[in-house]
Amino acid sequence: IETSESRPFEADVSRLLHMMVHSVYSDRDVFLRELISNAADACEKLRYEAIAAPELLGGDPRLTITISADPEAGTLTIADNGIGMSHDELIEALGTIARSGTRSFMDRIVGAEGKEGAQLIGQFGVGFYSAFMVASNVEVISRRVGSAEAWLWSSDGKGAFSVAPLSLDEAPARGTRVMLHLMDDAKSYAERWTLERIVKEQSGHVPVPITLVEKPGEEAKPLSDGAALWTKSKSDIAAQDYTDFYRSVAGQYDEPAATIHFRAEGRHEYTGLIFVPGARPFDVFDADRKGRIKLYVKRVFITDDAELLPRYLRFARGIVDSADLPLNVSREMIQDSPLLGAIRKGVTSRVISELVRLAEQDAEAFGKIWENFGAVIKEGLYEDFERREQLLGLARFKTTASGEGWRSLKDYVGALKENQTAIYYIAGDDAARIATSPHLEGFRARGIEVLLLADPVDSFWTSSGLDYEGKPFKSITQGAADLGLIPLLDAGAQPPAEASVEVQALVAAMKDVLGEEIADVRASDRLTDSAVCLVAAESGPDRQFARLLAASGR
Ligand code: ADP
Ligand code: MG
Repeated sequence: IETSESRPFEADVSRLLHMMVHSVYSDRDVFLRELISNAADACEKLRYEAIAAPELLGGDPRLTITISADPEAGTLTIADNGIGMSHDELIEALGTIARSGTRSFMDRIVGAEGKEGAQLIGQFGVGFYSAFMVASNVEVISRRVGSAEAWLWSSDGKGAFSVAPLSLDEAPARGTRVMLHLMDDAKSYAERWTLERIVKEQSGHVPVPITLVEKPGEEAKPLSDGAALWTKSKSDIAAQDYTDFYRSVAGQYDEPAATIHFRAEGRHEYTGLIFVPGARPFDVFDADRKGRIKLYVKRVFITDDAELLPRYLRFARGIVDSADLPLNVSREMIQDSPLLGAIRKGVTSRVISELVRLAEQDAEAFGKIWENFGAVIKEGLYEDFERREQLLGLARFKTTASGEGWRSLKDYVGALKENQTAIYYIAGDDAARIATSPHLEGFRARGIEVLLLADPVDSFWTSSGLDYEGKPFKSITQGAADLGLIPLLDAGAQPPAEASVEVQALVAAMKDVLGEEIADVRASDRLTDSAVCLVAAESGPDRQFARLLAASGR
């Protein structure tokens, strides 16, 4: 007889579990959404594999999620007849932190105090491990489709788990059963009313049907039909339905900041239901810069790896369902399909034009989106040549004139001073510091607006030779300032056209002393109160960009 093996959780999992159990987070209902979403994922994976190998479904083709409660025993079971997990998959999936977003989440949360930590749990799904918010013990029975082995995983969530072989008569024909032994203060999760309410609230739009078995031996009763929300017409969908769907597809618990639901007809037929999150997902600044839009073909989930949006829109969450792609195409081939290329283009246009519309019609709502994702969208300014104009139109800035709000380039250009021919900016990594830079003095004195650029990405697009409506972007820490033609606000303070003899003498003396260390010393209009400032050469990188390049070792 094979015996049970016991293994420690990966250190990060132990930390996550500890934090979850001891957190003051009160909305524990979310554990059910996480488990249902895993069960649905497992069903969708099998549905996909069965396209090429229909025999995998055997005599049980209807993929379902079954929730069974046993109020007397105080247990709750979430079962699916999906793909199941092998021995190694169980250990990998339920013993480590696999997804990158969760890791970044962990990094944030470890430093957070109890209350902030709780808020973070409330905003972002934490996956399978959230079961330990309500269960003192969790048992997972799983059998990978087509396998003659079944396994029992179990844990009390306190540092270790065990995995043991299970005889096939104790196991389902395929799929996974997650059984929770509910804590004393969580016994209500075995009650029908509670379960019905939560499933309706949270998981009503999961694209796999859900049934409930109220008591052992009773018949299963449908809770949700598994119809895909995106196939309904907009007028039949309430705002709350969209929010629920967003939450289950994005694994975020906030409200979407924008909902984009559209149907493309004509040469290519597809439906998109895409959300802009209300809060910044944790993986947005991950190095892989991966998008998370799910691709479906005729309501069958195919992959979330199809990169349906450009990288600079990777914060968007949702689905695209194509009616034209062949169902039996492999994931690898789909990547290079010209049809997918056309869909990508169409979906990208929809998302951008919706952002443009929002920017025009609801500045406040768009301001929030820009606050969260502007630094990502700006990557498009040097990556997506075709849409540069559109993206420049979307871009919003903090400027010396913006106050608490945001300024567009249209606003900026509309407020140009007499004889002003450039869009001036100052870049740095600390917004507060650049706003008080002495370089700004001469610009302030002339009422010239300057963009305050504090995102690392700003150095890249500004050095890519862009202009807006014929006005080049010009760093105020670089080259001559050319402010002489623009009058001072206080006309009486106008400096002489020629630097005085004393100034000329000082400049000469400084050149003498500094010698090779510098390229030049100039009298400048750019200062009013400060005596001197450092300026980069006219051509080549500006000072902030030079610093970034040096830091990255280039
Ligand atoms: P995520 O769903 O984001 O990957 P989770 O913590 O919810 O993260 O789940 C971790 C992994 O465990 C899943 O990716 C999946 O591989 C596996 N898993 C969890 N539940 C099931 C299930 N019911 N059937 C098959 N695999 C599952
Ligand atoms: Mg999950």
